Order: sequence, then structure tokens, then C-alpha cells
Amino acid sequence: MSKTTHKTFCRFCHAYCAIEVDVEDGRPITVRGDASDPVYGGYTCIKGRQLPEQHTTPKGVRETLKRQASGDFEPISVHTAMDEIAEKIQQLIAQYGPRSVATYVGSFGYQNSAAIHVAKAWHQSVGSPSYYTSVTIDQPSRKIAQSQFGTWSGGTHAFTGADVCMMIGNNPVVSMYTQFGGPPPFSPYARIRDEMKRGMKVIVADPRQSEVANRATLHLQVTPAEDPTLLSAMIRYIVRENLHDAAFCAEHVDNFAEFTALVEPFTPDYAAKRCGVPAADIIQAAQIFGEAKRGVAVSGTGPNMSPRSILTMHLIGVLNTLCGRVNRVGERVANPGVLQPARPRYAEVIGPEHAYGKGPWSRVRGLGEILGEMPTATLS
Ligand code: SF4
Repeated sequence: MSKTTHKTFCRFCHAYCAIEVDVEDGRPITVRGDASDPVYGGYTCIKGRQLPEQHTTPKGVRETLKRQASGDFEPISVHTAMDEIAEKIQQLIAQYGPRSVATYVGSFGYQNSAAIHVAKAWHQSVGSPSYYTSVTIDQPSRKIAQSQFGTWSGGTHAFTGADVCMMIGNNPVVSMYTQFGGPPPFSPYARIRDEMKRGMKVIVADPRQSEVANRATLHLQVTPAEDPTLLSAMIRYIVRENLHDAAFCAEHVDNFAEFTALVEPFTPDYAAKRCGVPAADIIQAAQIFGEAKRGVAVSGTGPNMSPRSILTMHLIGVLNTLCGRVNRVGERVANPGVLQPARPRYAEVIGPEHAYGKGPWSRVRGLGEILGEMPTATLS
């Protein structure tokens, strides 16, 4: 029996954690974080650690199979399968048009530099608008809200060195992919611990007593789907107490007065009744966030699965913008790019450009295209 250990990286998601894989007789047995890696420091999540099981499960498909009339599957050669599939697709297009063919690319497709481009090129050759990926099921609201709201060319404040970080509905200690400004995907717990030791205050809004909530300065146990209420109340308090960056708003924010009028009904007491967070905690969160000089509110996949998710994402953008938490002229931009050429960053607004509903509409539920893709929710 031969046992070897290989250093590699997890391809399950965009965090690309450094891992060690024990291999016994050609089979992966164990995956663990590579503690010797200076960036990741041994971090992995459960998805990465279960990779051996995924690779070796007896239920896995190990050869090309074709469903028979009986419903059973029988092995078929790859070449024969490809020919039969091509013939079937041609028949479908001839009979029903290109839209009868859809392509779905999941997260693993993004971890293979060839797969994503080949899949897209193949799909374009069919001429169908029905192109789906995990992007439109994972965090579509963030993209839609950003496109309605606009962004800042120089980017938001980074996590490292910030005074505050507010995490809304994500739990990076357990599963990463937080938007920029939240804990980096490299050993996020160690990053949070180190920054908190330095003085960072961490606010977590989550209905669950999550792992990151257990480590937070303040946990706001918000009622599901009421994140917009909590955020509106915080924004109202920050503006009324002049904790926002008035000069930045005067120069870069449209419709400031109209917006603040909209959040006026969200008093701490009203918000507390509606979102389940005590009024004193809402005020404390607004004070911590508003009095900080650097640091942003971020979110993850969680609120995208919740009602009013576009509004939540929009209000996160508002909170960060009103407090001016963006890089200014002369500031260092964290991670400007490694494999791709660094693009120039400017201390200026990139105006709204709607990402939703530009292209064809879905036949099911009448949903619009998002960033050139059909919403995956229509497949359910
Ligand atoms: S966060 Fe989890 S799934 Fe993503 S790369 Fe790391 S171990 Fe893999």
C-alpha cells in the first residue's frame, strides 16, 4: 500500500484554498488545509474537506451512460454519445429553434480556464439566449443593485486596516466568498481575529447565531427578510447624527435629500418592532459604523436567497457610500490584479448601468436577462 501527500489547491470555489491531499493507492483519502501555506494558514471549509468522498463515492458516474427505454442506464462510448447528442441537438433546433437548447455552467466550470470559454463559445454557436450559470443563483441581487446604484472606480476600503466591518447574512468563518471589503478568503477566521486584536469592530447581522456572530463585537439577530429595515434605521440614525461623510455625499451622491426622506419613518423603535433587533443595538451598530473612519458593510450569498434581496444589497451600497468608505486619490488599492494586467483606478463614480432585463425575457415567469445570462431561477 503506497501513501503519498500532495500539495495543491481546492477548485471548489473562487477562494482556491491551499490544501494537502493524502493519496493511498491512487485514491484521495483525506483533504486538509495546508498549514504551511503563508497566505491561507491551513484554512478549508467543509466543501473542500469532503472532496475525497466526492471523488470516490460509489454513486459517482465513472463512464459515459445512456438512458434506455426501461429507464436504466447502459454504458456507451464517448464518441457514440457525442454523435448521438449532436444529432439530437440538431433535430431540436430544426424543430423548435435555437431557444430549445440551454447551457448551464456551474461553479466548477469557473475553476477551469478552458471550460468556461469553450462552454460559452459552444453555446454562442447554437444561437440560443438560454445561457445559465451559478452567478445568477448565487448573488444576482448584488450585481443588479450595483448596476442600479453605480460603483466607485477606485474600489471600497479593504478589510485589512479597517476600523469596522459589518457582515450581513454571511458566515466567512465557515464558507467563503464575501465581497471585497470583507474578510479575505485566505484563512478568514485568522484575519478577523488579527484585525479585532488590532482594534477592528465587527458587526454581524444574521438571524442565526452563526460562527462569525459568536466572534463579533455586536450580533444583530435580525428577523429573516428584514435586513432592509435594519439598514434603513442605521442609515437614518447616521445621517441624523451627522456621522455620514457630508462632503463626499455633496460631491458624489444624487438624490440625497429624497433618499433620507424615504428612511425617515425607520426610527429605532419602529425598526426594532419590525426586525426584532433591540433599538439600543440598532443605535449602537449605527454609532460603531458611522464613527469609524475606514471599513465597509458586506454581504454574501445568504441575503440573495431571501425576500427583498435587491433592496438589501442596494442599502448596503447606500450605507457604504453615505459614509464615504471608498479609496481616495493617492490611496493604495489592495490587490489590483495578478494574472490580468492591472487596470487603472480613478477616484470617481462609475454611473449606474442597468444590468437587468436588457435582453430577451424568460418564457417561465417572465424574468429578464442579468449581465447577459438568463436567471437560473427560471430552471427550477
Ligand atoms: S472555501 Fe472551501 S470550497 Fe472554497 S476553495 Fe476553500 S476549501 Fe474549497
